[in-house]
Amino acid sequence: MNFIETRGNDGQRLEKVSFSSAILSPMSSFGGIYSPERLPALGADFLEAHLTSDYKTLARDLLSAFDIDIDAGVIDAALDLYDAFDDPSNPVPVVKVKEGLYVSELYHGPTRAFKDMALQPFGYLLASLAKARDEQYLILAATSGDTGPAALETFKNRDNVRVACLYPDGGTSDVQRLQMVTEDAPNLKVIGIHGDFDDAQTALKMLLGSEAFNATLREKHISLSAANSVNFGRIIFQIVYHIHSYLELVRQAAITLGDKVYLDVPSGNFGNALGGYYAMKMGLPVEKILIASNRNNVLTRLINEGKYDMRSTSLVATTSPAMDILKSSNVERILFDLFGAERTRELMQQLDEEKYYELTSDELKTLQAIFAADFCTDEEGLHYITKTFENDDYLMDPHTATCFKAWETQADKPLKTIAYSTAEWTKFSPTIAAALTGKTGMSDLDALQTIAEMAGIAIPEQIAALFGKDIAQQTVIDKEEIEQEILTFLG
Ligand SMILES: *Cc1c(COP(=O)(O)O)cnc(C)c1O
Repeated sequence: MNFIETRGNDGQRLEKVSFSSAILSPMSSFGGIYSPERLPALGADFLEAHLTSDYKTLARDLLSAFDIDIDAGVIDAALDLYDAFDDPSNPVPVVKVKEGLYVSELYHGPTRAFKDMALQPFGYLLASLAKARDEQYLILAATSGDTGPAALETFKNRDNVRVACLYPDGGTSDVQRLQMVTEDAPNLKVIGIHGDFDDAQTALKMLLGSEAFNATLREKHISLSAANSVNFGRIIFQIVYHIHSYLELVRQAAITLGDKVYLDVPSGNFGNALGGYYAMKMGLPVEKILIASNRNNVLTRLINEGKYDMRSTSLVATTSPAMDILKSSNVERILFDLFGAERTRELMQQLDEEKYYELTSDELKTLQAIFAADFCTDEEGLHYITKTFENDDYLMDPHTATCFKAWETQADKPLKTIAYSTAEWTKFSPTIAAALTGKTGMSDLDALQTIAEMAGIAIPEQIAALFGKDIAQQTVIDKEEIEQEILTFLG
């Protein structure tokens, strides 16, 4: 299987590339991104045949349908990382919360957020490729809180790969910051910057695009790569859990094989939703994919009105910060798949230049046959957290809560819904403690203890241990100093 570019080919680059070059060198013509040339069809028996198989077998067979240029042994070793999840026999539990509503918990990995689902195996794959080619890589990451810990965790102590991770000092939760600054490995550098997430992201993009920086790295025989969510090496692992969750519903006798379901996805950069879209195109019986957003509701407006509009909106900080995004990168792959490269290039160029595009009414109809959308304010989110804890005895984080609104307003047929839980309660505990007690402004540690007591559950070891660990990463600097800091780290 080869990969082609969402904005077409400029005649300078290869028209098609292999999976491994798409993940190692993701830069493509006209600023597009790589997408699979075609999606494999799963075939009528695939679902039935995997009713009794475990998560890793399902993942292995799905990846092999993509026929990618990675050795089976490497794929198996990458998938073995799911053995470190809470329950190795089922890394993604699916829990019934209400009549008709099931929650697929994607947060049972080492950093307690769904980024582990993709980054754990992806990190192993990328490091193996680097080693096999005898190449050195620098992975740059900018994080608002969840990607950073997951990227550091997956690359720590791996040969041939070093990671520099930028985070806004004061802009993450205590738990998220501790997850990063307590990481102690010679190949990891964590850099707090004076500024917000946008500053971190802008600094990263500048370095990725800087000729001088790239030339300095070349002298050191280091290639630059990014672990951001458009990398297809992450997306491929995000198709698996949608199929797994469906099969779990069949196993729990909630549905019969072939019944349609809603997938209900808390969305930011649209990687999770894209995985669901690909699963649907490959043959998973899905009625619609519900896109849940917070107040930063560009996706809601795109799907309901056909307009992608960043002109009059500025980013607002919400209690679901991992979804505080205006430019949702993976939407481009949907445009490409539905409307082709030429139209995608036109729309994306318009978005870059005018911060706006509008679909035709036919295009909007096509989009609405697949997606429905709604957004959830912070106040509504708190309400869903409180109500669900009190009435259904289920504890959830503010990102997951946005799905409950989309479910109430968008799941209009009497079909089962799979909502995705993208973070454990431990990662956003002050918000959850406020929902449960009415008290705001608690520290993470107070909030964790309060919730644990109220819910009668233990704080997971990975989180509890953070508060006693040494701070290994002390660097907090101005934006202007980032480049020099990274070069010093590389030696
Ligand atoms: C990254 C993240 C999201 C958004 O996922 P996308 O794939 O970018 O749409 C939602 N919730 C949490 C907790 C996240 O970390």
